Amino acid sequence: MGGTFDPIHHGHLVAASEVAAKFALDEVVFVPTGQPWQKSNKEVSKPEHRYLMTVIATASNPRFTVSRVDVDRPGPTYTIDTLRDLREQRPDADLFFITGADALAQILSWKDVDELWSLAHFVGVTRPGHELHNLGRDEDVSLLEVPAMAISSTDCRNRVNEGNPVWYLVPDGVVQYIAKYGLYAPHPDAAELAP
Ligand code: ATP
Ligand code: MG
Repeated sequence: MGGTFDPIHHGHLVAASEVAAKFALDEVVFVPTGQPWQKSNKEVSKPEHRYLMTVIATASNPRFTVSRVDVDRPGPTYTIDTLRDLREQRPDADLFFITGADALAQILSWKDVDELWSLAHFVGVTRPGHELHNLGRDEDVSLLEVPAMAISSTDCRNRVNEGNPVWYLVPDGVVQYIAKYGLYAPHPDAAELAP
């Protein structure tokens, strides 16, 4: 499951857990992006912060792991590169790419889209406020309804910035990590603190 995870929240975790159960997955690999190409004009927290929050959020689940492939690859992150790297690391695995309805709708605009289908089976999950379509690719894309979690990272960042709580929207350890490093604070300097 790829994402910016700025910050990771319970919408991501529920989606991953549901897909893992439904498709009997052995492992869900969370892959925080390096510099996301769709978001290059927006402020995105440093990859190391997003990576560590993802580790904290997933640590208690024995089937959840976090990969650094995108964080460590220089330049903008493209899913085709993510899948190529994961394929190389796990040559015998059946790869599934988990994505929410909004991201799935954009896939056709992604780099090397034709090769994407040969690298992984895509699973699109429902997300409040977005329509779920399989892009006309019955063989390559499965759709799954998951419990509706009306949570977005954008909303979490805005809440912190405005002094509102994010308890129970993100895992407890992530609430504490955000406070520790002053992420999303009204003072931009605070987010420059090193992890
Ligand atoms: P932002 O508001 O910064 O875009 P986000 O909440 O959309 O953050 P991303 O890191 O962009 O989170 O999303 C990673 C993946 O998780 C995407 O495929 C997205 O569709 C999916 N996703 C995010 N939130 C939910 C949710 N509440 N329910 C289902 N899927 C979700
Ligand atoms: Mg998003």
